[in-house]
Amino acid sequence: MFQARGYAVHSATTPLVPFSFTRRDTGAHDVRIEILYSGICHSDLHQARDDWRNALYPMVPGHEIVGRVVEVGSSVQKFKVGDYAGVGCMVDSCRHCSACRENLEQYCEEGATWTYNGKERGSDQLTFGGYSDQIVVEERFVVKVSADLDLKAVAPLLCAGITTYSPLRHWNVGPGQKVGVIGLGGLGHMGVKFAKALGAHVVMITTSRAKGQDASRLGADEVLVSTDSADMAAHAGSFDFLLNTIPVGHDLNPYMALLKRDRTMALVGVLTDTEPLAGVSVIFGRKAVAGSAIGGMVETQEMMDFCAEHGIVSDVEIVPIQAVNEAYERLLKNDVKYRFVIDMASLAAA
Ligand code: NAP
Ligand code: ZN
Ligand code: ZN
Repeated sequence: MFQARGYAVHSATTPLVPFSFTRRDTGAHDVRIEILYSGICHSDLHQARDDWRNALYPMVPGHEIVGRVVEVGSSVQKFKVGDYAGVGCMVDSCRHCSACRENLEQYCEEGATWTYNGKERGSDQLTFGGYSDQIVVEERFVVKVSADLDLKAVAPLLCAGITTYSPLRHWNVGPGQKVGVIGLGGLGHMGVKFAKALGAHVVMITTSRAKGQDASRLGADEVLVSTDSADMAAHAGSFDFLLNTIPVGHDLNPYMALLKRDRTMALVGVLTDTEPLAGVSVIFGRKAVAGSAIGGMVETQEMMDFCAEHGIVSDVEIVPIQAVNEAYERLLKNDVKYRFVIDMASLAAA
């Protein structure tokens, strides 16, 4: 065991504060990473504030981790000391269920081990995430990061990136399709970039008219302001796919009206309450509402390689760890363009 430092939250109603804890030593299959940058996902906020009613405290959030490999176990094959590496939402899974065998560890039938707010497999030891100086993870759950990319803008790819890339790939988004990305936050802005890179005609669907100014820079061909009913009516029945990233319960029915027949809206926002879906919203047009969780480790590496090939990274605002509580408040107010990333070098001053 060694001593690690980070920021933790101790209850749903208290702020993140400096925290010391222990991590396991580097095992034969493990990689020890010095964390350089850690993104702030809306899921961090949901879990810190116990929105999902499953919080385990003390909690060190952070599952968009980029860093430098500082030690490798004797059996590690993919990494050497000095490589750049990324860790996302999972650090382990059972590895033998049908999902794990199909490289879909996020759907592990025994439950994946989450990077934080979880317990290490077979033990009561809590997992602690990326708002910290170092992390030890088995190499299957670590991806290689190209040194050619801007590292601070890479961190959000580990969650916001894969969570949008995976459904766009699963529902075969590509040229000739009109695709809408709903909600322009951390996930949504990556969804726009990926949908464009995959060749679709991309519509940014937002409640914030002002974000439309960024539309073409992010890759959108059009902007649809969802609170404008005339604009919504003009786009009715015209979309081939919708990716919905809204983080709070909302009325799904107006969005379903945007889909063509036989098409799907995939939810990635983790909604704990939502208004009922009217039968007519899916029956007339044989439409579907689906969901998607992050992506498996093979697909996460594929997404990283796709980003390196297409020069895709996140639009980030860098904050020191000391400003993390303020960043949470701004995230709640929808005031981020488009992802906060903590520069972990700031931890030394904490
Ligand atoms: P975020 O940065 O806060 O962005 C969410 C966006 O949704 C906002 O920027 C806003 O966009 C829109 N929005 C917010 N409140 C709204 C409301 N009341 N009505 C309509 N639109 C609203 O959040 P994020 O980090 O992208 O995360 C989004 C959700 O995905 C969260 O629930 C998070 O937990 C979840 N998530 C899921 C997975 C998964 O595997 N499925 C992975 C990561 C995150 P506009 O201003 O453009 O309207
Ligand atoms: Zn996340
Ligand atoms: Zn499994």
